[in-house]
Amino acid sequence: MIVVRLPDGSKKNLPEGSSGADLAAAIGPGLARAAIAVTVGGELRDLDRPLADGDDVSIVTRSDDCEEALYALRHSAAHVLATAVRELYPDAGIGFGPPIENGFYYDFAVPQPFTPEDLEAIEQKMAEVARQGYDFERRELSRAEAEELFADDPLKLERLSEIPEDETISTYTDGPFTDLCRGPHVRSTDEIKHFKLLSGAGAYWRGDETRQMLQRIYGTAFFDGGSLEQHLHRLEEAKKRDHRKIGQALDLFSFQEEFGPGLVAWHPKGARIQMRLRRWIEDLLTERDYEFVYTPHVTSEALFERSGHLPTYAENMYPAMEGEGESFRVKPMNCPGHTMIYAARPRSYRDLPLRLSEIANVYRYERSGTLHGLLRVRMLTMDDGHIFCTPDQVEDEIYTCIELIDIVMGTLGLEYRLDLSTRPEKRIGDDANWDRAEEALRDALDRVGRDYGIDEGGGAFYGPKIDIKFKDAIGREWQGATIQLDFNLPERFELEYIGQDNQPHRPVMIHRAIFGTLERFTGFLIEHFAGAFPVWLAPVQVRVLPITDDHAEGAAAIVARLRQAGMEAELDARSDTLSYRVRDGEMQKVPYILVVGDRELEGGTVAVRARGSDRKQIVMPLEEFITKVTGEIATRELAP
Ligand SMILES: [Zn+2]
Ligand SMILES: [Zn+2]
Repeated sequence: MIVVRLPDGSKKNLPEGSSGADLAAAIGPGLARAAIAVTVGGELRDLDRPLADGDDVSIVTRSDDCEEALYALRHSAAHVLATAVRELYPDAGIGFGPPIENGFYYDFAVPQPFTPEDLEAIEQKMAEVARQGYDFERRELSRAEAEELFADDPLKLERLSEIPEDETISTYTDGPFTDLCRGPHVRSTDEIKHFKLLSGAGAYWRGDETRQMLQRIYGTAFFDGGSLEQHLHRLEEAKKRDHRKIGQALDLFSFQEEFGPGLVAWHPKGARIQMRLRRWIEDLLTERDYEFVYTPHVTSEALFERSGHLPTYAENMYPAMEGEGESFRVKPMNCPGHTMIYAARPRSYRDLPLRLSEIANVYRYERSGTLHGLLRVRMLTMDDGHIFCTPDQVEDEIYTCIELIDIVMGTLGLEYRLDLSTRPEKRIGDDANWDRAEEALRDALDRVGRDYGIDEGGGAFYGPKIDIKFKDAIGREWQGATIQLDFNLPERFELEYIGQDNQPHRPVMIHRAIFGTLERFTGFLIEHFAGAFPVWLAPVQVRVLPITDDHAEGAAAIVARLRQAGMEAELDARSDTLSYRVRDGEMQKVPYILVVGDRELEGGTVAVRARGSDRKQIVMPLEEFITKVTGEIATRELAP
């Protein structure tokens, strides 16, 4: 007999050699049918592997909401893909084929890239393999046996040579295909019912550009056909909303070879969006007693030596610049600079909290392979802020930070959630400090009255933090701002304040950003709104179209009046037809298009087409229009 423990703490007696499948069956026939894998001590395993006495076991059932279930399914789908490719291309070399977020891939050594037609044929072959219902059979074998098995597959032999001596070597076979693999897998290929191959791309073996180029195929799989449909629809939507495409079409920004990778130039229209976001956050911060500061962009390297960035973070920093025998660095973050401002004079408890903000460009030497449009850049504009306070003030400060986030998210109509990350195993600072800090964060979160998740042990070594994640219009989740407590920098820079007791104390430092970086946040906003920004953010808020040349002068006067009222208005008096110009304004996602002819000019009115109103036109006095739209801008309305 063996005894295993279930997640609810109950125990189950099973005959020696029982597997996860046997356990599921012993609990009930419904569970036996739904089971797809198990976790043993948190590690995902095949349903058919024997359990051991004392194992903590949890049954994983088929569900598109369960990461582990999807992991097993997609890993198995990757093998089915390789099975199909080997059927069609018997000489194809086999690289890696892991599950990834939202799907899986497999790398193949083949002489030609796969065409879309090839992918279609492979997909059909995959469906055949799936229908065959081959079992995934696990085999454990010796190194010598494995070397013989993969003798004519150099990529597998290389992988094999890296498996440590003490690790079990295993293969998985489904029908005609055998792969060197740790598993786990679902029981049979017929679980792979709802899948789709998405794209092919060249990929270097092991991501190393000095090695051979392989052909990677990406795909995805789900348990439920509806989930697959939904996912494919989302991918289509995401493609249409790609901020790089929309940025080009609306002339917002550019990346150019001469600037270098990951360095963005904001064109006038993109810069307007940046400016509005900046002014907004500056106003919000001013109302909350922040002080604005400016710190050098290039500083002596010694600063980052002292802050600890050079020892631990150097690979993400631009290389040093030399001059007059000294080394300089461009800043990857503002924290050390703000710390220096705090340390520049003696501080008393009466000076605290000291809230410093700097909306500054910082530069990070991100790997060129990870750069992605505005979402991952090397020049970042952070709405950065650092609060220096006493331990007793932490809760209030955190509360204000969350309140700010709530205002920003609410104004933009975004759903968001908060996660509290607590002390990790490896950390600095004594436990009493951590207790106090975590409690302050919890109390602040409770005071805000929002549900939050807890990531046990997910904090940084120097302090706990709160992460914000929000959802976009097509349901994708984005990582947003962070509120981070820091015991480390005050220590390194020996920051002090004189307390009420006349003794020196160490302040707590809070790092926080609301947007995070303006680049990434703008990239997000472009995709979320699909370029159709609410009027307060729209780079062009109003476009005025004279019906004929005779109305051009009157239209220009209206543009001048709108600009005087503080709006971004522009004239489109091109000789194209009116309907062409209306369509162009719609393509540029301009919130309001005003059409002006004889009737309007005589009556002091404008014919208004609001974006999304299906070309319905409302005639109203110009001044009424101005009052309406300046109101929408002032209150940051989401519509139109
Ligand atoms: Zn595998
Ligand atoms: Zn910081």
